[in-house]
Amino acid sequence: MNNNRDVDPSETLLLAQGHRRGRASVATFMSHSFPCPLCGAVAHQTWFRTQGQEIPTNQPKLGQLAVMNATGVTFSACECCRQWCVWKDEKLIYPTTSSAPMPTTDMPEDVRVDYLEAREVFDKSARAAGGLLRLAYEKLFPHLGITNKSPNDAIAELVRDRKLTLGTQQQAADALRVFSNQTVHIGFVKLEDQPATVMFLFRLLNFIVEQLITHPKQVAALYNSMPQDKRDGIDNTRREEAVVSREIFGRT
Ligand SMILES: [Zn+2]
Repeated sequence: MNNNRDVDPSETLLLAQGHRRGRASVATFMSHSFPCPLCGAVAHQTWFRTQGQEIPTNQPKLGQLAVMNATGVTFSACECCRQWCVWKDEKLIYPTTSSAPMPTTDMPEDVRVDYLEAREVFDKSARAAGGLLRLAYEKLFPHLGITNKSPNDAIAELVRDRKLTLGTQQQAADALRVFSNQTVHIGFVKLEDQPATVMFLFRLLNFIVEQLITHPKQVAALYNSMPQDKRDGIDNTRREEAVVSREIFGRT
């Protein structure tokens, strides 16, 4: 084999052939679709691979590339975000894998960006991941209709507006607020020593998004699928019941 042969860049990538696997729950070599490690969407993947390992060695500026063995390098292109993952010997090498969970489907885009960055650094620094989760969390509140408020005041307003129920939902919101804050202030816990706690913060942020965005959206879609007169009847009945309840029991 002539290792000095020039390679036409247009020919360096070929559509990967071979046995294609079906939909996978994690990024899996040669799968038709999987949750994209870059954008989080379960998306169709198009596969490419390098044509060979002949890389020009007679160009000094390519000195580093000249020693790179391109054999076994494959690329998967995500149909959703159009970004590429890099695979070497059937293992994902870019982006680096993470043991933290993927973001939930309805996580808003700006929140998702910080969440994915937190996920990226989690296995190297749980504290750094916690700090990025804090940023992601703070960016969530405007999507819930709360602007220019501290997380503490935002949670209070959500409870007042009955968008967040006291108990599990509110405790999840407050736990995420307090624990993620430990990354930037000297507090009662060192998150760098507690990766399991930070791992749980990922789950809490997903939980809050599911409870406050996904579930209301799904319920509204089902409710609105009923005939208009049916919905009007229910709405009027509930409104009257609420008025009676306020008059008799002083409840709101
Ligand atoms: Zn993607």
